Amino acid sequence: MARKQPARRGVMPLSELLTEKETKALASFDVREIDALLRFAPRRYVVPGPLTSLYDAEVGDDISAVVTVQDIHERTMRNRPGTLLEVDVTDGTATVTLTFFLGKRHLSGWHRSRLPRGARIVVHGTVGEGYRGGRQIVHPDYEQVEDTEEGLAWAQRPRPIYPLRKNISQATMRSATQKGLEFADTAERILPEEVLAHRGLPTLAEAARLLHTPLTLGEARRGMTHLRFEEAFVLQAIFAQRRAQDLRTPAPELRAEGPLQPLFDERLPFTLTEGQHEIGEQLASRIGNGHPTSALLQGDVGSGKTVIALRAMLRAVDSGHQAVLLAPTEVLAEQHHRTIVGLLGDLAGAGHLDGHPDATRVRLLTGSQRTTARRETLLDVTSGAAGIVVGTHALLTESVEFASLGLVVIDEQHRFGVDHRRRLRAKGPGGMSPHVVVMTATPIPRTAALATVGDLDVLTLRESPGRRGGVTSFVVHERLARWEERMWQRAGEEIAAGRQVFVVCARIDEGEADAPAPKELDEYGREKPDPGLAPARGVTQTAERLATRPELAGARIGVLHGRLTTEEKQEVMAEMAAGEIDVLVSTTVIEVGVDVPNASVMIVLDAERFGVSQLHQLRGRVGRGEHPGIAFFDTSAEPGEAHSTHLQAIADTSDGFLLAELDLRRRGAGDLVGEEQSGLQSTVKHLDLLRDSRLIEAAREVAFAVVKGDPDLEEHTQLAGAIALRLRDADPDVERS
Ligand code: ADP
Ligand code: MG
Repeated sequence: MARKQPARRGVMPLSELLTEKETKALASFDVREIDALLRFAPRRYVVPGPLTSLYDAEVGDDISAVVTVQDIHERTMRNRPGTLLEVDVTDGTATVTLTFFLGKRHLSGWHRSRLPRGARIVVHGTVGEGYRGGRQIVHPDYEQVEDTEEGLAWAQRPRPIYPLRKNISQATMRSATQKGLEFADTAERILPEEVLAHRGLPTLAEAARLLHTPLTLGEARRGMTHLRFEEAFVLQAIFAQRRAQDLRTPAPELRAEGPLQPLFDERLPFTLTEGQHEIGEQLASRIGNGHPTSALLQGDVGSGKTVIALRAMLRAVDSGHQAVLLAPTEVLAEQHHRTIVGLLGDLAGAGHLDGHPDATRVRLLTGSQRTTARRETLLDVTSGAAGIVVGTHALLTESVEFASLGLVVIDEQHRFGVDHRRRLRAKGPGGMSPHVVVMTATPIPRTAALATVGDLDVLTLRESPGRRGGVTSFVVHERLARWEERMWQRAGEEIAAGRQVFVVCARIDEGEADAPAPKELDEYGREKPDPGLAPARGVTQTAERLATRPELAGARIGVLHGRLTTEEKQEVMAEMAAGEIDVLVSTTVIEVGVDVPNASVMIVLDAERFGVSQLHQLRGRVGRGEHPGIAFFDTSAEPGEAHSTHLQAIADTSDGFLLAELDLRRRGAGDLVGEEQSGLQSTVKHLDLLRDSRLIEAAREVAFAVVKGDPDLEEHTQLAGAIALRLRDADPDVERS
């Protein structure tokens, strides 16, 4: 059959090979070209059971059997349109009926043509009771089989199960991938031949065949290894290129040893931990380089990251440059500003009578500032009078001119997308790039970090000096009234002892519909049953209800959520900080970084709606001062239900690294660093970030070697193309340039 020639290798549109239905089915997974089709892996495989004899098959059994068609009859159905096709088959030991309810005429013709009398077929399905006391199999899988050893092995091969969207059937997906296999040789081959040979990996064409028509599960795994290695290789090549580019880019050398940083160290009300010292040294040596650093500073909530970052920022100022600290929200930017001014004391008082002679100026720059304040601040930023600037990440996109930006610290990277940091490249003085440090309290396991942010130097803090009190977490079942009562009673006791309570809700108002949970489809394209979450409680209604709870009588209750104006939010946070509010009911706006050392209780309502790292962040809001913290994860799930077990696992683990693994295992890499992130880490398709560590490291070695020998990938055009695609998928605005 004559087929159209592809216009260009690898970019043959699928519409030229497939039916319209198949093309649409794949397009719903964003698979539009032969290249993508060949890399579209089945979700899992079903291995038919060993062949059984019909004589032994009992009602309810899932069976596979080789049988012969004896008889076939069809009748119309009484209660609905369509026909009933019944096929009697036997394997010589017994007889069963294969039953098909068919809505459309052509389907009956299709089955009949494949099931002539005397045909040998292998049939898979569940045995049920038939009409006249016999046994039947409704809608079995079947195919013709040759009665030879190979034929039987073929009949027993694993069946790929593809992910599905609504109105797409496995049959459509199977026929589409089978047709794609015929064109496997036209696809871009990203992995160099020598690499494949050296590692004993199958070629892409072979891998595609193994994935879609494996004879054994081992073959399927072998095919998958190609895709995993290829994915890791492309990612690592991106990182290798970025690192190589950094080495060609000049950056200010932040090397000065004073005066501010040593003065600051003297003023610290505590001694730095060993880890803080060590990481501080490592960071200092990196930003002392004449090329831009990109570092990820990770450590649990309270591990003292901010202090380390501040010391590096002072080093930048000491070296005659500026430093900026970016926070995800205005509330947090303001808090950082307060903290920094507080920690610096007279060192932040440049221009004031009581300022230290070596002092610098610390400026806050947010979108909601009044024009006059903003103009003044901008003047300080542009002139260089402000050594340290604190703002929201809007600063990245705004055309704010710095006199000489040497260091950028980004707090809580999971809100940004790590890749955004590359926007900052242009902001340095005289064509130089500033150094960038991203701080995160959602630690990433080592392999995962290598795979997803492999162009960053990862610096990890393991102690938590700032968590003096510590936090104990409990799961509370809303349906067990006594537990709930005890929880509020406990909150009341803490308030009576002068402490404060956070209550976090999943939404603002109960009048509104919950955000619809994404519908998951099973492999037959049916919607999976709803997990049965109770509607979430809202901030407004919860605050009203708490006002009437006897356990909290007399408590001063405040509310905080994203619909308040900036001033209102500031006011509430200030009241909370000043101890004028006892119970703050809020949405997750307080999730990251809010610092109220006097708060000792964190109650998360409908906790099953929150992610692992969110819950960990939330409980990190208490126990920050001298008082031990208590976190309650209140859930509508029944004890023993999956949601409860999951919450209990979080409650039982305080190690952020173990939690990150738990999270990875449960949700996969896409959600590694939170929901709102973008970038490379959100597009990992095939890699298992926990298990593929050896493979990732091997791919890294190969990719770095390739980029070293051919920095612009002139000899590796297929890799260059794959990188371009990957970056486009990862972040359309940032990376296309
Ligand atoms: P992170 O940003 O990692 O959550 P912070 O730097 O905000 O942590 O520190 C948390 C709290 O611990 C702050 O109140 C900080 O002043 C305090 N802190 C930081 N380092 C130390 C230390 N070495 N000893 C005692 N307290 C510390
Ligand atoms: Mg912090």
